[in-house]
Amino acid sequence: MRQRNIKNLQERIDDNSTHLVREPEAMKGRWRELFGNDRPIFLEIGSGKGKFISERAERLKDYNYIACEGQDNVCLRVLEKAEEADPDNLKVMMKYIHDIHEIFENGELEGMFLNFSDPWPKERHAKRRLTHRRNLKGFFDVMRPGGTIEFKTDNDDLFEFSLEEIEDQGYEILEFTRDLHAEDCTYLSKEFMTEYEERFMTLGKNINYVKFRKPQEDPGQTGGNMIFVRENGRTIPKEDKIFAISNRAKEAIAKYGKENVINGTVGALFDDDGKLIVLRSVDRVFKSLTPDEYAPYAPIGGTPEFRTAIKKAAFGSYEPKGFTEAVATPGGTGGVRNTVSNFSAPGDRVLVADWFWAPYKTICQEIGREIQTFKFFNEEGGFNIDDFKANVLELLEMQDSLVIIINSPAHNPTGYSLTVTDWRNIKAIFEKTPQDKHVALFVDAAYIDFAGDEEQYRQFLPVLDEMPENVLPIVGYSASKTFTMYGMRCGAMICIAKTPAIAQEFKQACEFSSRGSWSNCNRAPQTIIAKIFADPELKKMVDEERAEYRDMLLRRGRAFEKAAKECGLEMVPFDAGFFASVPMPNPDEVAAELEKENIFLIPLAKGIRTSVASVPEDKCVLIPARIKAAMEKLAK
Ligand code: PLP
Repeated sequence: MRQRNIKNLQERIDDNSTHLVREPEAMKGRWRELFGNDRPIFLEIGSGKGKFISERAERLKDYNYIACEGQDNVCLRVLEKAEEADPDNLKVMMKYIHDIHEIFENGELEGMFLNFSDPWPKERHAKRRLTHRRNLKGFFDVMRPGGTIEFKTDNDDLFEFSLEEIEDQGYEILEFTRDLHAEDCTYLSKEFMTEYEERFMTLGKNINYVKFRKPQEDPGQTGGNMIFVRENGRTIPKEDKIFAISNRAKEAIAKYGKENVINGTVGALFDDDGKLIVLRSVDRVFKSLTPDEYAPYAPIGGTPEFRTAIKKAAFGSYEPKGFTEAVATPGGTGGVRNTVSNFSAPGDRVLVADWFWAPYKTICQEIGREIQTFKFFNEEGGFNIDDFKANVLELLEMQDSLVIIINSPAHNPTGYSLTVTDWRNIKAIFEKTPQDKHVALFVDAAYIDFAGDEEQYRQFLPVLDEMPENVLPIVGYSASKTFTMYGMRCGAMICIAKTPAIAQEFKQACEFSSRGSWSNCNRAPQTIIAKIFADPELKKMVDEERAEYRDMLLRRGRAFEKAAKECGLEMVPFDAGFFASVPMPNPDEVAAELEKENIFLIPLAKGIRTSVASVPEDKCVLIPARIKAAMEKLAK
């Protein structure tokens, strides 16, 4: 709200400046020193006349507070209040914050209050809203792990927008109400009101309120606990989440017997007896290798025979018009890493779907990038092209280049395969984006041979070929599932470039990265794949064997889906692939509850994933009802 001009404003500010921090940037990393104690520090952005923060500072003496208000004539009121009460736990800064990192060191704050902030109602101004995802991300950077944001507003539209941002970013909501001052609401925040709030309350307007935090990846085990290790912005858990749960499942099997345990954790194919499936044809070729065929170093980008064969494996009968180069990688994982490191810049965000394979985030953290998610599904359960577009446009405005990872066909963990129309829609978006901004479109095709008919599920490839010039499609191919070579660590990244120079540059940069990380890849699986593609009879055997297991997977997934329907459990429709997923707000808690019953599944950000690849059909049908029961138990 505009305030009247105040006479002798500067003079009055100077007269009331005991609590004013004139150069907040100079205090970065030293706020504790300024307060002279180690008490947690809370910041209010947009303090108005300071009623809320002054009362808080007065009543809650164990905490330090910083009031921040940009309008000098309004901020004067905060200063006057502070001058009068003279609290030793309140500081004031007169500032519009544009970049929070300029004022606070990472982890310096305990929490933040955003009260009745400007709604910026025009859509094109959405980024200026304090609860826009970009701002929230910065706020959480400067808070200690577990720090909270409390947000109050009378503006219902702004509240809806903020809730979507909070949910999309996977933040954890701790308190929530659309009517903070309802009689039965007991949140502490109700006891501290701003001037606005008081006025709206008397007018009978509801006040929306939400308190939320960034979930800790591994509560209590991370965040500055390292001894020698430099965390470098990463959150390093004690163990890999999936492998840790899988190990607990194995221990349970050893203790209680495999018939009494369900292990739906690891994405690898197991038969009904719980034995890892290895294609017999592949096994036979492996055992026939001579030392010359497996012992020598392979060239960094892969043997020439492998590079030719792996393109055929990825593209099937389709022959791209673009210029292709294949570079060997240790599994599909290596392709993700090489793509992120070569086609994005440090600090960039990489765009992935909100249902995503967790290592995408690990890889980004590891090399100083972050992920940003778009909503994978729309209301009808199809690919959410609108949210995809909004995120692409936002990131292209912020960055000079962009890496996008799309896992399809048979997406992990939902099984969804983008349709040819979905791909055409994606292409249409890029045709309209600024052509000077480069996009690396990484198609993670790790499950391409488990989606259904191999040719049918490769029909999207021509659309990749037709992408505009500013887009470089890269297909990430994994031999882990397709050839049951999980531990042999074999895969490839293959570009479809518009010019030979781009393809050459791709090869050169990716080989450089390979040399600087894993050096070269295993020769044995490269030889096996080259042999399979050089021998049509052998290739036919491999395909037939795999098709058998693909059908087994489909049966398991459908049995799971049917059982979910029967017990009324909502799930992400099962299309194909290794996993069946159930959305829920509290996956970690539900997974922990299921573990008590010896059911081991993987909690993800938005739900629980069951690897139907590792659970026999007769057990798949039992899982949905157990998940539902655990969810209901926790909801009580
Ligand atoms: N991409 C996705 C979505 C996956 O689920 C996996 C494996 O689980 C991979 C890529 C690559 O795996 P690998 O490195 O074993 O080939």
